[in-house]
Amino acid sequence: MLSVAEATQRILGVFAPLTGEVIGIDRALGRVLAAPVTARLSQPPAAVSAMDGYAVRAADLAKLPARLTVTGTVAAGTMPTLTLNPGQAMRIFTGAILPQGADTIVIQENCDRDGEIVIVREGSTTLGQHVRAEGNDFRLGDIGIAAGRLLSARDVALAAAMNWPSVTVTRRPRIAILSTGDELQHPGEPMGPAHIVASNGIALAAMVTACGGEPINLGIARDNMADLHRALDGARGADILVTTGGASVGELDLIQQALKDKGAKLDFWKIAMRPGKPVMFGELGALPVLGLPGNPVSALVTATLFLRPVIDRLLGRTSETGSPAVARLGAALKANDQRQDYLRATLTRGTDGSLIASPFPKQDSAMLSLIARADALIIRPPHAPAAEVGDTTDILPLSGGCLGI
Ligand code: AMP
Ligand code: MG
Repeated sequence: MLSVAEATQRILGVFAPLTGEVIGIDRALGRVLAAPVTARLSQPPAAVSAMDGYAVRAADLAKLPARLTVTGTVAAGTMPTLTLNPGQAMRIFTGAILPQGADTIVIQENCDRDGEIVIVREGSTTLGQHVRAEGNDFRLGDIGIAAGRLLSARDVALAAAMNWPSVTVTRRPRIAILSTGDELQHPGEPMGPAHIVASNGIALAAMVTACGGEPINLGIARDNMADLHRALDGARGADILVTTGGASVGELDLIQQALKDKGAKLDFWKIAMRPGKPVMFGELGALPVLGLPGNPVSALVTATLFLRPVIDRLLGRTSETGSPAVARLGAALKANDQRQDYLRATLTRGTDGSLIASPFPKQDSAMLSLIARADALIIRPPHAPAAEVGDTTDILPLSGGCLGI
């Protein structure tokens, strides 16, 4: 049996980041940057006031209170026309450019106004106080965001401030999804006693969307060659085809055979993991094909382990999703066998603030009701010894898609 790590490496070896496309900055949230964003200007473009108050010369404030003559006003968006001479002050507002000769801002709360005179009563008069220097935030040419970063609301703000109305992001990977099975019906269709609702296609499409890809749901192929051949033709143009079902013993040959008929080069792997032992991977011409198990939980867990990194790679993401975190066990666990286990678990906080992962007592790979409620998967390596409550364990958090703020 192949290890999860080895299977992941073999799969990832086939993929490289997709080409970039230019999109409006207002649509860039959640996309992955394909070319770095550098500052197209300096911010602020000149020294500006950080407060509402008076622009002054620090040298005039050696002794407080100080009386200065107000010679004008500068607001944000206007260029100061007057020079500030010794003994003078200028009314100034946040974001306004400092007039020539001014080097310090005193805040209005520390001043009294008497006609043309301002009396600086108190407060700090350090040189440069409340002045934002030219390029304080960033300078022309500075790198703001490196390529490979998934753009958050904060990144989008920075790119816009660096004067980019559009950015180059990786094209969304197109993920074709095919469900197989004679027993499957779409949700809402009439259900006979032997029917099962087809949830995998919908689950995988949602997951692809959450990971930044574009799902192409090819629907359900019945368990016969003609239908499978027809369905496979529908995957043309995708960056990868993901199939579910038709992979357990007895049915194994159907999807595999259909792919081989079309000339696919295939590996069929038994992976040392639970849930989801059988996984198929190969290439149908230029189209990579990933065959996942039909059991809904196995399909979701194997997609999390093998499809999500593929999407990350196609997107050219530099920070990986799906890195394990650490938690304490909320229940004792028996020694593990040779398969890496992914136990569905809830997460809570202990009294000391540490994360506690409590596995559900039932770990049936067909139970969607449990994985839907789970917060994480507890990772049990092959041959892990028995573990006690409170022992540390690796977990794979399930919450959250690609979007943050
Ligand atoms: P198979 O690998 O085709 O033998 O499927 C294994 C189990 O998963 C069977 O109980 C199937 O009914 C179930 N199954 C297969 N495909 C789906 C699907 N798309 N949605 C929900 N259950 C499925
Ligand atoms: Mg089947």
